[in-house]
Amino acid sequence: MNEILSNFIELFYPRICSGCGIPLLKGEQVICLGCHIKLPRTEFGFQKENAIEQLFWGRLKVSHATSFLYYRKSGLAQKLIHELKYKNRPEVGYHLGYLFGQENKESFLMTLPDILTTVPLHPDKLKARGYNQSDEIAKGFSEATGIRFIPSVISRKEFTETQTKKKRYNRWENMSDKFELNNDIIISGKHIFLLDDVITTGATMEACGKVLLSSDNTKLSILSTCFAIN
Ligand SMILES: [Zn+2]
Repeated sequence: MNEILSNFIELFYPRICSGCGIPLLKGEQVICLGCHIKLPRTEFGFQKENAIEQLFWGRLKVSHATSFLYYRKSGLAQKLIHELKYKNRPEVGYHLGYLFGQENKESFLMTLPDILTTVPLHPDKLKARGYNQSDEIAKGFSEATGIRFIPSVISRKEFTETQTKKKRYNRWENMSDKFELNNDIIISGKHIFLLDDVITTGATMEACGKVLLSSDNTKLSILSTCFAIN
């Protein structure tokens, strides 16, 4: 775009930082430099025995696990995820995914991943939001690392009416019954990076991870953009 025109547009519609709301300077994308520096990075990388890896001990066979940011109530990561999920700002996800990938690229690539995939969103939420926030993160991550992103490797099971009725009477709805492998995508023998936006208890990742590990000789690593802590 013509620079004079773009300056003119910014005068009336300033691009603002998704973290703190101040106008962005030229060259800044999505968040300002101040927020970029203040991102509450975990610095876990793929360090052995980090908190995310420990979260899955005894639950899921994980090769590597990490999280990019700490997610605290009213913190910067929570603000950014809120923008991504509820303010129609898919570019916030792309940007976070890009940084996550870029800042850890070497250690990630050393583990020889084959594909990157995400936790599928419930169809009702997908319809309401228009995009799966984790897919947006994955696109940026893939761009930064060169790891191929394949969406929808895992699907949410669709239930028949009778099954739905049955489920309603079952107080302890089983998370592992919610997902299945998309048979059109062959993952056997591959090292898969499973990516999500926020990890809290890890139950969803555990259920999706089990589905991926049900295929022959797959290797699984868990990557969450944010790690919810108190
Ligand atoms: Zn800012």
